[in-house]
Amino acid sequence: MYNNILVPIAADHDPQTEEALAVARALSAEGAKITALTVVEAMPGYILSQLPEGQMDKTRHEVEEGLKEDFAAADDVTIKVIEGHSARTILDYAEEHGADCIVIASHRPDITDYFLGSTAARVVRHAQCAVHVLR
Ligand code: ADP
Repeated sequence: MYNNILVPIAADHDPQTEEALAVARALSAEGAKITALTVVEAMPGYILSQLPEGQMDKTRHEVEEGLKEDFAAADDVTIKVIEGHSARTILDYAEEHGADCIVIASHRPDITDYFLGSTAARVVRHAQCAVHVLR
């Protein structure tokens, strides 16, 4: 049983979101905190300079609204959207916020050649806490 569970959700609306949430709840101790985290990939400066001003804020806002919709019925879940690099940012967030478990999907459903996708593999390898991988 865990007290502070992090559930990373890919921005292109993970089809395993429901499953991840159900697993996070099943692994929760009473009163546990569950956080759904989406990392919006940071753009290199040379691309950012070509985008209209405020574009990244707009994207982050849209992603946040999408997550809120997905989790509208889940008032036990805190939603976070952060700009960064997916695996590194998930790992940093978990450490900085004292997560004791990360629930993550193994890869995108249509890419079944790999046992673990690149983000999931890095999280499994480097996390300082337990990681539950959805297959
Ligand atoms: P693939 O390499 O097949 O795309 P990934 O390892 O990127 O697989 O994705 C596996 C899981 O990692 C996703 O289902 C999601 O849980 C998590 N994940 C991937 N990218 C992000 C992201 N940008 N923000 C939050 N979670 C992510």
